[in-house]
Amino acid sequence: KIYLKKIKNSKLNTFININKKKSIKDAKKADKIIYNKNNTILTGIPIAHKDIFVTKYNKTTAGSKFLKKYISPYDSFIIKKFNKFNMINLGKLNCDEFAIGSDNSNSYFKKVINYLDKLSIPGGSSGGSASAVSANLIPAATASDTGGSIIQPCSLCGVTGIKPTYGRISRFGMISFASSLDQAGIISNNAEDCGILLSIISGFDKNDNTSLNKNFEYFNKNLNKSLEKTIIGLPIEFFNQGLSIKIENKINDVIKIYKKLGVKFIDISLKKNKISNLTYDILSSIEVMSNLSRYDGIKYGKYNKKKKFLKNLIYNRNFNLGKEVKKRILKGLIYSSSKYYKNIYSKSLKFRYSIYKEYYNFFNNNILNCNAILIPIFSDLGYNIKSKNINNKMNDIFTISTNLSGLPSISIPCGYIKNKIYKKKNISFQIIGNYYKENKILNIAHKYQ
Ligand code: GLN
Repeated sequence: KIYLKKIKNSKLNTFININKKKSIKDAKKADKIIYNKNNTILTGIPIAHKDIFVTKYNKTTAGSKFLKKYISPYDSFIIKKFNKFNMINLGKLNCDEFAIGSDNSNSYFKKVINYLDKLSIPGGSSGGSASAVSANLIPAATASDTGGSIIQPCSLCGVTGIKPTYGRISRFGMISFASSLDQAGIISNNAEDCGILLSIISGFDKNDNTSLNKNFEYFNKNLNKSLEKTIIGLPIEFFNQGLSIKIENKINDVIKIYKKLGVKFIDISLKKNKISNLTYDILSSIEVMSNLSRYDGIKYGKYNKKKKFLKNLIYNRNFNLGKEVKKRILKGLIYSSSKYYKNIYSKSLKFRYSIYKEYYNFFNNNILNCNAILIPIFSDLGYNIKSKNINNKMNDIFTISTNLSGLPSISIPCGYIKNKIYKKKNISFQIIGNYYKENKILNIAHKYQ
């Protein structure tokens, strides 16, 4: 009830739908379970979900006008898992339409506001999740990441968020943006909570053919392990160009703390990163064009019987999809057309492979034996609610290559900066780990926190 009250009084626009009655009912059920001592540590804990995960008992909009009344006939994989642990779903969180965007300005619903300064954008596309956790409207939230949608908003809102290895969490029931890049994750206040929640939603799912067939792991188990002998790489490309001195200073402080904990740092080079933005733009546009073709007024949306068939399709797509989404669909159509397919699509698949290979060699065939990579998340502080999209694409170079290669990463807050415009501007850093090594990056994050 306390959380529901806080959500109701909040003016941050983080929630699209709130589960008032159902959550009270579920909380009463959880009380009984606790009373009978049949509980786990998660019984009765409130959570909320990015509105990209389908749920049976309330609407799932994906931040789009197209789905504003849509109710799914089934629950997504992760929702089922949380239900099994009797966690209380307080509702669905605002996000960019179909998770496309970097600042939440693409949501059909009201714009989310960053809790930290009540002024700037919360980042995107999981801005509702990040700002709600930051404001303590919920202790944790689910989110998704295709090119930085967990890492970036966590940095802007000062919370911790993990994007695990691609395939670690089933995408069944997670509305698709670019399927080969999409990955679900957790946003919370610290690495420990992220680890606990990640443990229960990970695991093989036959309904997702990209799901990893790995044994169950407790991701919160090795959090206190010593960092002696840990080697972290610092890619020179991420530190030399255009990085704000204030951000650089904060990250240098982080490095000093880790050195005291026994970590050894080495300079490395990730040359392929410069082609990641271009590669992402092509591949994600083509995949979103294909995935969103289902929103046509026949399978989803409203079919107007008075209009002719083709007119109906055009009408539905034209009036119910947002500007940025339409832009991406058109880009995808052009990039994959017979004229450009070979030169653009095939080449970007090769680019993607080279990005993946560079990371793979770095982590697996390396005499340096690095355990993780540390990089910034934003190069500057130029984000506020009026001037959207400032350097959006430029900052994406810090996050996109982990999606293209499928590596796990975590966003960790490391202090505030104050100036005339921003009362409180959070700075975070990112730790990227080897495939399936979520344990290691959570351990590195926990030791810092
Ligand atoms: N900002 C990126 C985009 O708009 C990534 C979004 C995401 O990770 N879902 O494509």
